[in-house]
Amino acid sequence: MHHRPDCVLCRKIQACDDRTDATLIEEFKHSFFVLGDHQFFKGYSMVVVKDHVRDMMDLPGKLQMEVLQEVMFASRALQETFQPWKLNHASLGNVVTHIHWHIFPRYEDDPDLLQHPWFHSAEFDHHKISADLARERATLIRSHL
Ligand SMILES: [Zn+2]
Repeated sequence: MHHRPDCVLCRKIQACDDRTDATLIEEFKHSFFVLGDHQFFKGYSMVVVKDHVRDMMDLPGKLQMEVLQEVMFASRALQETFQPWKLNHASLGNVVTHIHWHIFPRYEDDPDLLQHPWFHSAEFDHHKISADLARERATLIRSHL
């Protein structure tokens, strides 16, 4: 695997590989499915590609499709676990240039349902969860894969 020591997601991939990351939900062929670092949106998760690659277009075509399919496996599990109103997907990578997909379950009682998921980002830090709760939630989601 191609990793960079200065990349926060490469370090996360390493921790997932070592099974020391409490947010690990599942290992896919090309990615790890992990719980997000906050739960402002219940079930907020990420699919992080194993290799340090900058953009989806930089992957070979077959891998592009397989990674998207892994994002869909993850999405289906989140849908079945939490029954949200809708899922939002985002892959930006301006801050961390290592392909990752954010998956935000959105709920009907969301105060700003029509807004993008970062609309309340100032509050995200107040919704961090303990390693124990992360493991519990990851186990629950895994049971729906
Ligand atoms: Zn990386």
